[in-house]
Amino acid sequence: MARAWNFCPGPATLPEEVLSRVQSDLLDWQGKGLSVMEMSHRSEEFLGIATKAERDLRQLIGIPENYKILFLQGGAMGENAFIPLNLLGDHTTADYINTGHWSTKSLEEAKKYCDVNVAASSESSGFTHVPAQSEWQLSKDPAYVHICANETISGVEYPFTPDTGKVPLVADMSSNILSRPFDINRFGLVYAGAQKNFGPSGVTLIIVREDLLGKARRECPTVFNYTIQVEHEWAFNTPPTFPIYIAGLVFERLLALGGVTEVEKRNIAKAQKLYAEIDRTGFYTNKIRVEDRSRMNVTFYLPNEKLDDMFAAEAKGKGLINLKGHKVAGGIRASIYNAMSMAGVDALIAFMRDFEKRYG
Ligand SMILES: *Cc1c(COP(=O)(O)O)cnc(C)c1O
Repeated sequence: MARAWNFCPGPATLPEEVLSRVQSDLLDWQGKGLSVMEMSHRSEEFLGIATKAERDLRQLIGIPENYKILFLQGGAMGENAFIPLNLLGDHTTADYINTGHWSTKSLEEAKKYCDVNVAASSESSGFTHVPAQSEWQLSKDPAYVHICANETISGVEYPFTPDTGKVPLVADMSSNILSRPFDINRFGLVYAGAQKNFGPSGVTLIIVREDLLGKARRECPTVFNYTIQVEHEWAFNTPPTFPIYIAGLVFERLLALGGVTEVEKRNIAKAQKLYAEIDRTGFYTNKIRVEDRSRMNVTFYLPNEKLDDMFAAEAKGKGLINLKGHKVAGGIRASIYNAMSMAGVDALIAFMRDFEKRYG
């Protein structure tokens, strides 16, 4: 059976090599007579898997020792609550930059715990760009500034790393982590659900600077208290063991490919080719400011909704699946994360040309 080209925004396509490896390890992991799924999270075997995953991730991103790494449950949306509960400390305000659907979700959740200052928003222009830092109106003493580095639904991505001085910068990188290098030292905390770019759903990565620990509010659920989780190293409660194992295999593969710098080159090439096709004639249109176009989630519209629907349906019949845009945005969205190959992008482009010939 042939695998489809899966453009799903998440849970997203995984590298075939990783899936094959999982399959061959499934019943008997490295001759131990059991599956990773069935191992104690305190066993030497699982701790070996988890510490290697962490080591490889540190190498891929270049994470120094003063940043702690957590693999927790709760998803990126859970973090919308856990971040204020952990980081507010004595502060009463947090600043948020609103660039679309996911930043809106983050700031709405934070309102349960603190005063939210929306320091900048691109809402009035339909969330089609990232507000320039010169337009941000930060509050006097916020606990942190929160951004969504890549808006998965509209396809808007920060082309720059904001400078927030001494105020910790917090970023939701769920849909672009490991797709391009970034300097972790510019951030206080970075978080990402695994299911877009590095694993199956069920595990959330949190990279947090050490000096931000120890401030959790009393009402913060203990299992989501970063400080307690860091102190107990994988053993406070059961971590999502199987997703961590698969994420570890993805990290290993990224290192073997040459690391994030090499992966970024491929991502640039894939995105450029696809946007060039969109821009080639007037048949397909993308609404995002060119500098802020996402390399991961490429959105476009056909001349009318009926054609959008026909495009997605016909593509599906040809093995190009999950191209329908999010219900709030409509149109078409091709998610081309790390695991989508250039061959998949080429197949999509060939289909776009054929479709345009018939309906353009
Ligand atoms: C998918 C996504 C989320 C939601 O993640 P869950 O794991 O479903 O909670 C949040 N932020 C961004 C940027 C996303 O792409």
